[in-house]
Amino acid sequence: MIVVDDLHKHFGGFHAVDGASLTIQEGSITGLIGPNGAGKTTLFNVIAGVLPPTSGKVTMAGEDITGLPPHTLFSKGLLRTFQIAHEFSSMTLRENLMMVPGNQSGEKLWNTWFGRKRIADEERALAAKADEVLEFLTIDHISDERAGNISGGQKKLLELGRTMMVDAKIVFLDEVGAGVNRTLLNTIGDAIIRLNKERGYTFVVIEHDMDFIGRLCDPVICMAEGRVLAEGTLDEIKANEHVIEAYLGT
Ligand code: ADP
Repeated sequence: MIVVDDLHKHFGGFHAVDGASLTIQEGSITGLIGPNGAGKTTLFNVIAGVLPPTSGKVTMAGEDITGLPPHTLFSKGLLRTFQIAHEFSSMTLRENLMMVPGNQSGEKLWNTWFGRKRIADEERALAAKADEVLEFLTIDHISDERAGNISGGQKKLLELGRTMMVDAKIVFLDEVGAGVNRTLLNTIGDAIIRLNKERGYTFVVIEHDMDFIGRLCDPVICMAEGRVLAEGTLDEIKANEHVIEAYLGT
């Protein structure tokens, strides 16, 4: 689904991504691991259009998407979530989800004059969709809670929920498990597996928690020093001498 070919991202003289090549298979939950500073987040940012590459190519289903801006990639179904959730803290969870799709009629002034009924209908449909997403993620009991009041793990679920408000095809998740308790991490893992199996989402997951990676991801790709070191099942990766060396060297 995604092919990354000889990608480079340099910050001045520093090569954060230094010739990374990899393939993400459609329908997979691919894990991306590697020691701190390996270039994982930078790679995500380049693929998702947050940072322009220095050189190299990214294709999605055969189409060159290198350097396209996030909103264009978003409309193609490629989404990236951030390590730190970007919720609107004074809005409820339901309202946060309703904010996601960018094509509502209400956004255009013209339509606010001429299409009031249509806007009301759209809002009702959006609220119903948001409720369905909240139920899927098992956080429907806090639908009316302000997002600023919920826990870090619940924010991660909300972030995942945003991907369900659009027709996502591939979602890049950056450290969904960071600072999340084990129970919520399991809930997040269950939601990812269900989205993958029931809705056909492809996921690429950066995560340090190896139990989480082992439970969800196949294959696992290990990066170090801006390049791909190894790819395989988690057990294969753990037994790979280059991987062991990269982790011991940090
Ligand atoms: P990882 O996610 O694997 O921990 P990162 O992609 O965050 O790695 O970082 C790779 C390297 O690039 C790190 O050494 C980091 O300090 C450096 N880096 C990341 N972003 C920038 C930036 N905007 N400017 C300069 N260096 C950066």
